[in-house]
This record gives sequence, C-alpha cells and structure tokens, in this order.
Amino acid sequence: MNEYDSNRIFDVLKKIGYSKTENISETDCYILNTCHIREKATEKVYHDVGRLKKEFKNRKKPILIVTGCVAQAEGEEMLKRENYIDSVIGPQSYHKISKIIKDIEAKKQKINVTEFDTIEKFDTLNLIKNSNSKVSSFLTIQEGCDKFCNFCVVPYTRGPEYSRTVSEILEEAKVLVENGSKEITLLGQNVNAYLNNKKKLSDLIYTLSKIKGLERIRYTTSHPKDMTDDLIGAHKDIKKLMPILHLPVQTGSTKILKLMNRKHNIEEYYNIIEKLKKFVPNIKFSSDFIIGYPGETDKDFNDTLRLMKKVQFINSYSFVFSARPGTPAAKKNIVKDDISKQRLSNFQELSEKIKINYKKKLLDSSVEVLFENRIDENSFFGRDKFFNSVIVKSNKNLNGKILNVKIKNFNTNTLFGTISDFNEKPFAA
Ligand code: SF4
Repeated sequence: MNEYDSNRIFDVLKKIGYSKTENISETDCYILNTCHIREKATEKVYHDVGRLKKEFKNRKKPILIVTGCVAQAEGEEMLKRENYIDSVIGPQSYHKISKIIKDIEAKKQKINVTEFDTIEKFDTLNLIKNSNSKVSSFLTIQEGCDKFCNFCVVPYTRGPEYSRTVSEILEEAKVLVENGSKEITLLGQNVNAYLNNKKKLSDLIYTLSKIKGLERIRYTTSHPKDMTDDLIGAHKDIKKLMPILHLPVQTGSTKILKLMNRKHNIEEYYNIIEKLKKFVPNIKFSSDFIIGYPGETDKDFNDTLRLMKKVQFINSYSFVFSARPGTPAAKKNIVKDDISKQRLSNFQELSEKIKINYKKKLLDSSVEVLFENRIDENSFFGRDKFFNSVIVKSNKNLNGKILNVKIKNFNTNTLFGTISDFNEKPFAA
C-alpha cells in the first residue's frame, strides 16, 4: 500500500510542478513514506534524516516531510525531537500535501496533519488521475481495520475500515489499463472486508473483470473471517482472478489465535482452504506467521508446523514476535528469545523444503508469465499466475506480454526459463 500511496502523493505533487529525482543532492522536497509494521521503523526515519542532513550540510535544506503510519503514530514526538523535519502527515491526510508544502514554503510553522480524513482523501484523489503506467499496478479499494488483533498497530495508524465506491474504483482501473496495466492488485488492510453500498469484494471483482485489456486480478491482504462463500465462488467463476491467495493465519494453534484476537479458529481456516481447493483444484496459498507469540508452547508451535505441512504454503513470511508499542500484546510476557529463534529456524527450514519441492515439480513444465520489466539488456522479469518470479533471456521486448515459459532452473526466489510461445532466436550470451 505504501507503493500505491507514494505514487498517488507524486500525482498530487506533479500538479504543483514537482518531478521525481533519483539524485538526493538535487532534492527540493524529500518525502519519507513510512511503514510502522516494520521493526525499528522510527529509528530508520531518524537514520534517513541524518543522511539527508549530512548531504545538505552547509547548503539550503530541502523541505522534509514524513508521511505514512510512523508519522501517524509518532509524528508529534518526531517534530519535537528532530528540528530538520518540516511536517508529518498521516496516511489519511496526504491529499493535503500540496497545500502543506506551500505553507512550508511561506515559512509557516511546523505542520502536523494526522486526522483520519479518509473520505476527503479519496474524494480529492479521484479528481487526479492515477499516472501509474506499470504492467502490474496496485489499486487501493479499502483502508483501515476494525479487527484489532492484539499485536497490530494498523487500526491505530490507518483508522477504521473504509471502502471506496465501485464506480470510483472502476474509473481508476480503466485509467490504469489505458496506461498499459495488464494486471491489477486490489489493496486493502482488510481487502476482503470491502463493502460499499451493499457491494462486496466479489461484486467488485466481477465488475472489474469485464474491463477489456485487463488480464489478471489479484487482491491482498485478506482476513480469514471475511473469506465468504461468494468470494470463494468468484475464484471458480472469474478466470482473470489468479489462483493464489495470500491468507494470513499467523499461527496453527486455536489457543494462540484466541490470544491474538484473530476472531476465528484453526478449523475454520482449514475449511476455507478446502472449499477453495474444491472449486479451484490447482489453487495455491501463501501466508504470514508470527512465531513465539506470548503464550506459545511447544504444542502450539507444533500445531503451526502441522498447518504448514497440511496446506503446503508456497510462500510464507515468518517473524519472531516483536512487540509494537501501544498494542495489547506489548504488555504480555514474551517467549524466551532463544526458544523463539529456534522455533523460527525450524519453521523456516520446513517452509523452505516445501518451497523447493514445489519448485522442483515445476521443472520442464510450462507456466504462463506476464512480463513486467526488463532487468538488463536481454533479461526480462515477470510473474506466473501463482505470483512466482520468473526470469527469461530474450532479444525481443517482452514487456506487457503474456507468454508460456518452460521452466529450466530455479533458486529460492526465482524461476528461470525459456519462452516456448514463439520462435525466439536462441539468446546469444
Ligand atoms: S486484521 Fe490485519 S490489519 Fe487488522 S488488526 Fe489484524 S493484523 Fe492488523
């Protein structure tokens, strides 16, 4: 979502004459768009500010604005601690950035804007076209969260759940496709809680799937509790909806799910997986895991390993629990560090094994790849339907093409193959 937000901030700034630069030393305005989910996120902000100060030592400083969830959570404190920062803007207020910059230029005071103005934000952004022209683009359809998992800061930083209207999402999607997007990933902190004017996520996907030129649709991130039958049915009916679901579970233990306030048990999670597999037999899953959550015993951890073996997640993102200030879990007794680390290592060993076995089975098979960008003169990067990264060599421009690729090799993160669709000249190394 930060990538989407950064692009939209740029769309707003373009209107007042700013352009992007890769060169820090020629910056007039420096914006740090932050993510509070990351560990030590605040320290990283101060570190970056330090870098900037060094770069501009003895020169006129650029305008420095911190946006995103760290600004939301710790903005007041940041303005006090770091004089170099001119403004902090929360994730629901960045549509005001051009006015804020003008105020800073007019030498007004430091500015802290951290209200939850989600409706006003999207009303403003709807008037400014999304200029993103990537083959695969993000589109925010929902923001915020009402779930209050005990470990998470999102409800405090992004505010309550809000869903944009179908018509404004459709308009933005059409613009993205006109700009060259073939794939759109619908975004939301609780994307499958999407609900606007009785339209659910499944209704929205049916509508978007009719856009000519849009070939692939994905959505992330989902909560198991909102994985309703209509959405599961959409996976069967809509061919443009890709057969992979990122469905965070965090743990395989019902006891820990309860302690986390996840609002579902592990049986319900297994049921969702089974239903989806019944409708889409080749569907794959990925998930997020917190290892060593306060109260996790060996038995609970073994439940997580069992879940991993049973579902065979092709990608899993796992971390040792680390407390986020202000969340209920931050007050709980944590599992000893050496135990958590050992469990994480066991878990990751298993998930790597599953991933490698899965990739081995792909060798010599053909996968359908949407090519997104050129990574060097003769190499192109794309993704297959299951979101696997694929790299091929080609002397033709493959950007934006969907082609069959025969998989010849792989490493942990990437598949390597050759185009099997058209008569490619053999690549001359
Ligand atoms: S549902 Fe997701 S965003 Fe909401 S509190 Fe839980 S982990 Fe955070």
